[in-house]
Amino acid sequence: MVKDDCIFCKIANGQIPSATIYETTEFRAFLDVSPANRGHALIIPKQHFDNVFMLDDETAGKIFSVVPAIARAIQEETGCEGMNILQNNGAVAGQTVNHFHIHFVPRTKGDNVSVTWKQGEADKDDSVKLAQAIKNRL
Ligand code: 5GP
Ligand code: ZN
Repeated sequence: MVKDDCIFCKIANGQIPSATIYETTEFRAFLDVSPANRGHALIIPKQHFDNVFMLDDETAGKIFSVVPAIARAIQEETGCEGMNILQNNGAVAGQTVNHFHIHFVPRTKGDNVSVTWKQGEADKDDSVKLAQAIKNRL
C-alpha cells in the first residue's frame, strides 16, 4: 500500500530524489536531509506502514535483518565511534513522518546529539503486575 500524501512513499518509489545508500524491491535506505551527524541515515519499507504498531512481522524481520550491514557500512565510511539506532512512533514520541522508518545516527565523542532521557524509578509492585499484564497480551 502507498499513501498519496506521504513524503516517504514518494521517496520510496523515487518520485522524490534521495541520497540512497541501499535499495531492494522492498526497502530503501537513504541519508537524512537534516542529519543529526554526518552519515545519519534512514531505512524504510517501500510499502506504507504508519508506525511500528502497524508493521507486520515479516516486514519487521526483513528490515531489521539488514540493519547490522547498513550500520557497519556507515561506521566504516564515517569512522564514527558509536551509533544510535532508533525509531519513533507517534507525535508524542517525536515521529514527524508517519511512514515507519529506522534511524542510524552515527556518534562521535563530544558531538551535540542527544537521545537520552532521565532515568526514572520503577515501582516494584507495579512492575510485577505490569509485566504479567503485558505478557498476557503476547
Ligand atoms: P522522525 O522524526 O519521524 O523520527 O524522523 C523523520 C526524519 O526524516 C527526520 O530526521 C527528517 O530530517 C527526515 N526527513 C524528512 N523529510 C525528508 C526528506 O524529504 N528527505 C530526507 N532524506 N529526509 C527527510
Ligand atoms: Zn508512506
